[in-house]
Amino acid sequence: MIMASASTFCPNGTLHRYTSTSLSTRGCPAFASDSTLFGLKLPHKSFSLSVGETRIIRTKSTRFSGFNPISASHQAFDVVIIGAGIIGLTLARQFLIESHLSVAVVDKCVPCSGATGAGQGYIWMAHKTPGSDIWDLAMRSRKLWEMLAESIREKGLDPLVELGWKKTGSLLVGRTPAELDVLKKRVKQLREAGLKAEYLCSSDLVEEEPSLLVDKESGAAFFPDDCQLDAHHTVAFIEKANRYFASKGRYAEFYHEPVKCFIRGRNGEVEAVQTLKNTLYGKAIVVAAGCWTGSLIHDLGIELHVPVRPRKGHLLVLENFDSLQLNHGLMEAGYINHQTINSPPTLSSSEQSDHERTLSVSMTATLDASGNLLLGSSREFVGFNTELDESIVNYIWDRAGDFFPKLKRLNLSDLSGSRKVRVGLRPYMPDGKPVIGPVPGLSNVYLAAGHEGGGLSLALGTAEMVTDMVLGRHGIIDNSPFALQGRCS
Ligand SMILES: Cc1cc2nc3c(=O)[nH]c(=O)nc-3n(C[C@H](O)[C@H](O)[C@H](O)COP(=O)(O)OP(=O)(O)OC[C@H]3O[C@@H](n4cnc5c(N)ncnc54)[C@H](O)[C@@H]3O)c2cc1C
Repeated sequence: MIMASASTFCPNGTLHRYTSTSLSTRGCPAFASDSTLFGLKLPHKSFSLSVGETRIIRTKSTRFSGFNPISASHQAFDVVIIGAGIIGLTLARQFLIESHLSVAVVDKCVPCSGATGAGQGYIWMAHKTPGSDIWDLAMRSRKLWEMLAESIREKGLDPLVELGWKKTGSLLVGRTPAELDVLKKRVKQLREAGLKAEYLCSSDLVEEEPSLLVDKESGAAFFPDDCQLDAHHTVAFIEKANRYFASKGRYAEFYHEPVKCFIRGRNGEVEAVQTLKNTLYGKAIVVAAGCWTGSLIHDLGIELHVPVRPRKGHLLVLENFDSLQLNHGLMEAGYINHQTINSPPTLSSSEQSDHERTLSVSMTATLDASGNLLLGSSREFVGFNTELDESIVNYIWDRAGDFFPKLKRLNLSDLSGSRKVRVGLRPYMPDGKPVIGPVPGLSNVYLAAGHEGGGLSLALGTAEMVTDMVLGRHGIIDNSPFALQGRCS
């Protein structure tokens, strides 16, 4: 029997190892014993850094061309991660539990200020396609989320409380014969790929989801094992777990510190990350700055075009919403195309403005761990603008009303007391998959960005992949589809 091991850390201070027979064939040590496990030639530093120890080397005022820090302290880490979204934080977690390396996370703001804070939280396979480049990463990542939830349970904690974790299953709802055909094929395809999947005809669907508008043309693909989490709960859990390692001198956070430039060594290698207040030396540097990754790389003077773009999304949250019974997570069948740029806008007016032509709204509905109804979501390309657009909130509400007749009877303006809107910029890559890997010509700088609408789902798999790359380990899944070569020029 092939066993693989993994470890997880719970914020109550215990490190938990668990095994699984359903993982890959890799025998993965819970800890890398020393820095030689980097497995690659890291640039030699003029300072000595003992692995597992975070040391402030000295504090002094420094000047760098084009940028004048007020007072910069120099600190040294094994790994410096730029970006404290779900990708950066889970990466930090993975390094902390899988090695003895010291880790710094630096963010221009705070963790949920990027796309992560707007995330709906579904960890679904329903809309992913077997055989696609993303499939193995998504499967692996979902497995890792399940293992994390299980390990929390084994510690006597409740994953619902810690992560907002719920195994609700997901329903992909179709309402035309063409959509039902697609859903039947999808059920077959996902079953063949080893997932639990079932096609529900209209009478079965109405039993599963009584609040849904179902007629004889309706049907759904049902994936009972699909799960969801709460992005804010999960980020808080991971932050708390990471901070445990601060007391061991292995972890530090630098929030509200935009990265301004890279400090290069004589051989041109990147040695440190410069913020307004700090110079953070790192043997390995990971850029996980979401939709800002491309512009940041440019600003840092690296000659590389990373075609990641911000794709704005609105999510409507109705707090403590009990007017609608929701047994599963729901998504309209059209969402499958909604993620790709070539899908036509779903707004049907012949008088569409340019803005509307880039806008699409697809119904997603979930009930989170606190009983809030989350209705999604919009996608549009409007640069880095994060202003709330009431017209889009109304589109989302109207679209949800098309599926849930009870909502049609309510007036959104009457719900203003319990209404919140989350707005975030998804890191969109034109070819629909993230960039994960070393920057050509800079062997110690890695990118992990471009997860668009799937960053929460894909985070743990991405973190494992990057950690394996940095530690020079053979990865569990093939990382070549995510390499920068041929995708970033
Ligand atoms: C409405 C909506 C719903 C979504 N729903 C889901 C869902 O249900 N499931 C799912 O899997 N995904 C979902 N997503 C997508 C998911 O939220 C993203 O893919 C994910 O959050 C991306 O994470 P990230 O860490 O790459 O980026 P971010 O969360 O954007 O983090 C990037 C960080 O980099 C920092 N940064 C940028 N520039 C600098 C700099 N110069 N110096 C320092 N720091 C910097 C930013 O401050 C930010 O904190 C949704 C997204 C939206 C908008």
